[in-house]
Amino acid sequence: MPGNKAVSYQGPGRVEVQDTAYPEFELKEGPGVNPLNVGRKVPHGVVLKAVATNICGSDQHMVRGRTTAPAGLVLGHEITGEVVETGSDVEFIKVGDLVSVPFNIACGRCRNCKEGKTGVCENVNPDRPGSAYGYVDMGGWVGGQAEYVLVPYADWNLLKFPDKDQAMEKILDLAMLSDIFPTGYHGCVSAGVTTGSTVYVAGAGPVGLAAAASAFLLGAAVVIVGDLNKDRLEQARSFGCETVNVAEGEPKDQIEQILGEPEVDCGVDAVGFEARGHGRDAETERPATVLNSLMDLTRAGGALGIPGLYVTGDPGGVDDAAKVGSLSIRLGLGWAKSHSFVTGQCPVMRYNRKLMMAILHDRVQIAKAVNATPIPLDEAPRGYEEFDHGAARKYVLDPHGMISKTG
Ligand code: NAD
Ligand code: ZN
Ligand code: ZN
Repeated sequence: MPGNKAVSYQGPGRVEVQDTAYPEFELKEGPGVNPLNVGRKVPHGVVLKAVATNICGSDQHMVRGRTTAPAGLVLGHEITGEVVETGSDVEFIKVGDLVSVPFNIACGRCRNCKEGKTGVCENVNPDRPGSAYGYVDMGGWVGGQAEYVLVPYADWNLLKFPDKDQAMEKILDLAMLSDIFPTGYHGCVSAGVTTGSTVYVAGAGPVGLAAAASAFLLGAAVVIVGDLNKDRLEQARSFGCETVNVAEGEPKDQIEQILGEPEVDCGVDAVGFEARGHGRDAETERPATVLNSLMDLTRAGGALGIPGLYVTGDPGGVDDAAKVGSLSIRLGLGWAKSHSFVTGQCPVMRYNRKLMMAILHDRVQIAKAVNATPIPLDEAPRGYEEFDHGAARKYVLDPHGMISKTG
């Protein structure tokens, strides 16, 4: 049995690459593992050799100490890998398959899975519906920023790439299928983006950029991306987006200069609860700013897609209300404008196959849009730090040097 190495959370601002156990077909006790899940048998699972495993803004919420994640938690929910072992109940996935893993863990058997709501599967997290690898309060499935990782319900969860050699040529693009590409796309679909839409995406991090690329794929006429990070805004302009710097004031005013009117058809929140304020408030955390401004700048009858994460517990919240995820939202405005909005984990499985086809047939350049940047597993602490400082990059860990070999 080979050894295993993984990236683990060590406390606010600290991650380490550590030796860890090689996965077995059973959930073991460990940091963040729900006691009710300990001893759970996983004959329906496979062991994957991780080929690409990305760092996400969702990981940063934990690493910044903004969640109740315990020290020692193995991180990583954006996994692409090669199957090296299959459990006794796995029927169709085979050793050698190259696969994308949706970050949501889903059983394929519960009511929500049957309805396609795989982000809120009822059977994988004893605390509440919804689960992910390497994430606080998500049941304790071990993270995949590692050399090897266990994936349960493999026949149901895994998306197999049709041709391995072809897939390795586009591996940096395909690595975005585990989370941010479907998540950005879901943000746009739920905001009603279609041919000719005008779209405002708040946030030019990897999810915001993936949403912007998705908006073009869906036929949007104008895509405007807002952030206060100039490098990330430049990255957005590199593939045809208009941009607004929210540090210069309300996005609505700058949108009016671009479009000739202050409202867009569709609004996407790719920021979440660590949002900064606008204008002079840009130095300060204002967790409700993005939601309130999206209601302000989205036309009556429009919709808001909200992939940005909001939490039920935040030790670093700006006030007592924010510490339990209670924000001052101007719902009256949204009501008056008949807005609809969609929140929650993206149900990755709803989109990953079609987005894979768009990648394989050169309809979209997602790795380029988000500036996907491979680095060795051992350099994960550097990746976390640079990403936290706002690098205009999506870091992709390359645990076995398989990406660097593709050149
Ligand atoms: P990120 O932290 O890299 O990007 C967030 C960006 O928002 C930063 O560039 C920041 O400068 C910018 N920002 C802050 N305040 C702003 C404001 N008022 N207006 C505009 N921009 C502002 O994170 P990411 O990886 O791009 O992820 C974005 C969000 O999506 C995170 O909250 C993450 O947890 C969440 N997420 C959700 C899902 C899902 O399934 N729903 C999946 C993946 C990520
Ligand atoms: Zn993610
Ligand atoms: Zn389920």
